[in-house]
Amino acid sequence: MTAVLDEFTLIRRHFAGLTPATPAVRLGIGDDAALLQVRAGCELAITSDTLIAGRHFPHETLPADIGWKSLAVNLSDLAAMGAAPLAFTLALSLPQADDNWLRGFAQGLGDLARMAGVPLVGGDTTRGALSITITALGEVPAGTALRRDGARVGDLVCVTGTLGDAAAALRQWQAGSAGVAALRARLDRPTPRLAAGRALRGLAHAAIDLSDGLAGDLGHILAASGVGARLDPSALPCSEDLREVISDVASRVALQLNGGDDYELCCCLPPERFAAAQAALAPLPLTVIGEIEAEPGLRLLAADGSIQEHPPQAYRHF
Ligand code: ADP
Ligand code: MG
Repeated sequence: MTAVLDEFTLIRRHFAGLTPATPAVRLGIGDDAALLQVRAGCELAITSDTLIAGRHFPHETLPADIGWKSLAVNLSDLAAMGAAPLAFTLALSLPQADDNWLRGFAQGLGDLARMAGVPLVGGDTTRGALSITITALGEVPAGTALRRDGARVGDLVCVTGTLGDAAAALRQWQAGSAGVAALRARLDRPTPRLAAGRALRGLAHAAIDLSDGLAGDLGHILAASGVGARLDPSALPCSEDLREVISDVASRVALQLNGGDDYELCCCLPPERFAAAQAALAPLPLTVIGEIEAEPGLRLLAADGSIQEHPPQAYRHF
């Protein structure tokens, strides 16, 4: 039989001492609201993401992985703005207060929170279908945030890390295969590129994190900036694991362009700043995959040298 907890015991046991406080936290969990100190000259960056069982993660995902990923996707948004995380809140809806599930969830959540040095300062706990909403707060020196609307003609389009691993893992899972552990780790425990985001401040004209697939997410930068881009699919950075699992180049490129859950950063920067950006992000790879052009839309350079229009096809809920 699984132990069932009342709401306040649940919060105290699993969340109140989960993450270490930082000097920015003047008041954490326990009052009607938390109090945070934002440094003078900084802007507050705020982002929320909800994860729903069956939609954002398969029902059988380990609770610890759900905890990690719920925070990771929010920290990835802060990273994409170039913001340093200050704190986060957790709104949890649970079908029942299952102590074992909560222990696993809190462990995964706490692992990433401690790794990123970001404290949990409040939240809400209700009964309902499993849903996790995290709001992450960060700070960024005023005027320096990496927005989507700053890309300029002639900028290089770059991405961090490698693309397609998580989408390949999801495919393997959906096909009922255990799959490759390293790929699966990219799906279950993405690493938000926080240091990279901050390092790109003052170097990149625009940035976005890759959650719904490169083509669609880059499309947001293009639309916001009023520009277009040409990508070289053969330049998309690829892990050895992905190369082994999907040997067909066309299928692999399709997955890298349209698969989601990479949580890498895509940024646009002038060519003369590329070397500095690459050095600032090392050892995390930064790869040039294309260039910003005046003509709207996304075009792909084919192997025969021809240019093809890429249809927009990012995941949409509605
Ligand atoms: P209120 O009724 O004033 O909204 P709650 O009873 O919802 O307060 O929460 C009590 C305290 O516990 C608050 O400080 C709240 O931020 C915190 N809290 C509630 N749920 C969570 C959670 N899932 N994780 C972290 N803190 C939580
Ligand atoms: Mg409340």
